[in-house]
Amino acid sequence: MEQLPCWITQTTRRTHEIIRANLHRSPLYAGRIKGTGPRYCPSIEDKVVKFAHREAHQLFLEPEGRHTEEFYVNGISTSLPYEIQLEFVRSIPALEHAEIMRPGYAVEYDFFPPTQLRHTLETKIVGGLYFAGQVNGTSGYEEAAAQGLIAGANAALRAKNKSPFVLGRADAYIGVLIDDLVTKGTEEPYRMFTSRAEDRLQLRQDNADQRLTPKGFGVGLVGPSRWAAFEQKMSLVRECRSVASSTKLRGARIDHLFKRPEVSYSQLPVEIQAVAPAEIWELVEADIKYEGYAARQAQHNRELLKKNLQRIPDGLNFAEIPALSSETRQKLSQVRPSTLGQAARISGVTPADISILYIWLYKNSLGLATAIEAAEIEIN
Ligand SMILES: Cc1cc2nc3c(=O)[nH]c(=O)nc-3n(C[C@H](O)[C@H](O)[C@H](O)COP(=O)(O)OP(=O)(O)OC[C@H]3O[C@@H](n4cnc5c(N)ncnc54)[C@H](O)[C@@H]3O)c2cc1C
Repeated sequence: MEQLPCWITQTTRRTHEIIRANLHRSPLYAGRIKGTGPRYCPSIEDKVVKFAHREAHQLFLEPEGRHTEEFYVNGISTSLPYEIQLEFVRSIPALEHAEIMRPGYAVEYDFFPPTQLRHTLETKIVGGLYFAGQVNGTSGYEEAAAQGLIAGANAALRAKNKSPFVLGRADAYIGVLIDDLVTKGTEEPYRMFTSRAEDRLQLRQDNADQRLTPKGFGVGLVGPSRWAAFEQKMSLVRECRSVASSTKLRGARIDHLFKRPEVSYSQLPVEIQAVAPAEIWELVEADIKYEGYAARQAQHNRELLKKNLQRIPDGLNFAEIPALSSETRQKLSQVRPSTLGQAARISGVTPADISILYIWLYKNSLGLATAIEAAEIEIN
């Protein structure tokens, strides 16, 4: 179908002046709304204040439909009064004569601390009551849908007296999301990021069905026809793997050749390619290419566990660690954890951040040896 264009424009100095002059009328800035806003979709008031040096902010004009003249202005969410909205909207190139059909507004909502939940998303206090979505402190469509799936499946399993359905951190992003929520809680609307997962080389879209279809089948979420298709696919995958490990090209095994970045299944002789459709070869090739890295990551994660007792010196200036994101530096400076383990439990601090912090302490020889010895004793 023919697509409609989506346009780009930007705010101007005048837009920012109007907003700055009226900040006291924004419920978020006047203190009438006290909650922490979503970090990843800030209001235009937030952007003008926090990025005061920016002279313009990019906006997208998204058509609302084929049979309307309405556009959604993506990038100026606001809680300023209507007349101020009209004034600043008209200070934006292309919108000088715009009419506002529905003004922007702010919603403030509360949540139940998700540390009160089990990994099945059942509340610990009231058996049989399950929570999913924004009520658990998350923000986002996928975040809500992922929890809904797990809470719904577990409610049904409980009603049937069957074992619960829990995905681990190494199984799926859903596992990372729920484990973060129920063990760390959240201080601000929680968003899922690939960086929150320590096994992210394994959590790929191309192997999602291999990771999850057997589990889904086990609890009745995957029906017989999908299961049959999956089994058929897996038998082809096994066949390709066996051909790749038993066939040599130019003196080297195909599975060894696949580890090289420049080698692709499309270079295989046609009779070998004919063993399975291209998408199966693609999958086998990706799996082999990632294998070494994924194993290294798993080893790294095991070592990291041991390092949890590593002490962080009092008064360490986290702002000096350039490789950390500003979000992480801000959180570490607020909480001032005294060990790496404590830092890892701060909501929003990722396993990758802990690695960076560890390396930084190591490079600056901040008392590592004794701490690691202590950690070894504790773990053994
Ligand atoms: C303006 C705006 C823009 C957003 N943009 C994005 C975006 O671009 N991408 C993104 O991923 N996320 C976005 N979000 C966040 C996302 O919409 C929410 O986090 C997500 O929809 C929450 O889903 P939920 O099922 O937990 O809650 P909801 O979708 O709020 O569902 C709760 C439902 O419960 C019903 N309900 C409430 N009380 C009762 C009751 N007593 N009895 C019966 N029913 C009741 C409500 O009517 C509602 O239908 C946006 C949110 C807003 C407000």
